[in-house]
Amino acid sequence: MKQYFDRLYKQSNPEFMAELRDRLAQDQKTFIVTANPEAFMFGEKDPEMHALLMDEHVTVVADGIGIVKGAAMLDVQVTERIPGVDVAENLMQYGHELGKKIFLLGSKQEVLDRMCRVLAEKYPNLTIAGAINGYVPDKDAAFEEIVAAEPDIILVALGIPAQEKLIYKHFSKFEKGIFVGVGGSLDVLSGSKERAPEFFIRHNLEWLYRILKEPKRIKRFYNSHVKFIFRVRKEGRKLRK
Ligand code: UDP
Repeated sequence: MKQYFDRLYKQSNPEFMAELRDRLAQDQKTFIVTANPEAFMFGEKDPEMHALLMDEHVTVVADGIGIVKGAAMLDVQVTERIPGVDVAENLMQYGHELGKKIFLLGSKQEVLDRMCRVLAEKYPNLTIAGAINGYVPDKDAAFEEIVAAEPDIILVALGIPAQEKLIYKHFSKFEKGIFVGVGGSLDVLSGSKERAPEFFIRHNLEWLYRILKEPKRIKRFYNSHVKFIFRVRKEGRKLRK
C-alpha cells in the first residue's frame, strides 16, 4: 500500500495544472490516474491495476481527501487534493485555448449529448473528435476509433478500475494525448448531476454529499474507504516499528 503513496504527485494543485497545460501544448503523451481510496484498494487485488499504479510513465494524483489523509499517516508529503473533476474541466479550458481535439468515452448517451452541447457553447475552439457512450458492448473497438481520431485529450468515464485498465491496455498505440479516467465527472460537468455545494467541497466532505444523494453508494464506500483506513493504519504501525 505504501508503495502507491510514494508514487503520488507531491506538488500543489496550481503547479500540477500548469504542468498539464504545458504537456498538452507540447503534445507530450500523459496518463493521469486521479486516485481515491478505491483505486489503491483495487491495486492490492488486481495485478493490472497494480502494474499501472506502479508504472513510472503514469502520473498518480490525490483525487480524494482519503488519499491526502492516508499519505500524512504514512509520512508521505502530499500538498493537497487534485480532484478529477477539476482536471477534466481544466483540460477542456486548456484545449479550448490551445485549439486542441477531445474524445469522450463513457457515461450515458444523454450525458454525452449534454456534455457535447456544453463543450460547443463554452469551449468553441475545442474540437470534439468523437464521443462514445460507456454502455457499448465492445470498449476495445471504441478505443480503435479513438486511435484513428488522433485526439489530444481523451477522457474515459467508466468508473475505477475499468477506465484505467482500458486506457493502459491501449496506451502504447498512441503518439500523443492526455488520458484521464474521470469517473462521474462528465455527469457533473454536463450539468446532469450537481457537484456538492461549496460547503461540502471546502470541508472535504464531497464523499459524504455523494452518499447522501445516492445512498446505494454506502456499500461501495464501506468496501473501499472504511477498509482502506484500517489498511493504512496497519501500514503506518509497520513503519513505526
Ligand atoms: N459508466 C459507464 N459504463 C458502465 C458503468 C459506468 O459508462 O458500464 C459510467 C457511469 O455512467 C458514470 C461513470 O461511469 O458516468 C462512473 O461514475 P461513478 O460516479 O460511479 O464514478 P466515480 O466518480 O465514483 O469513480
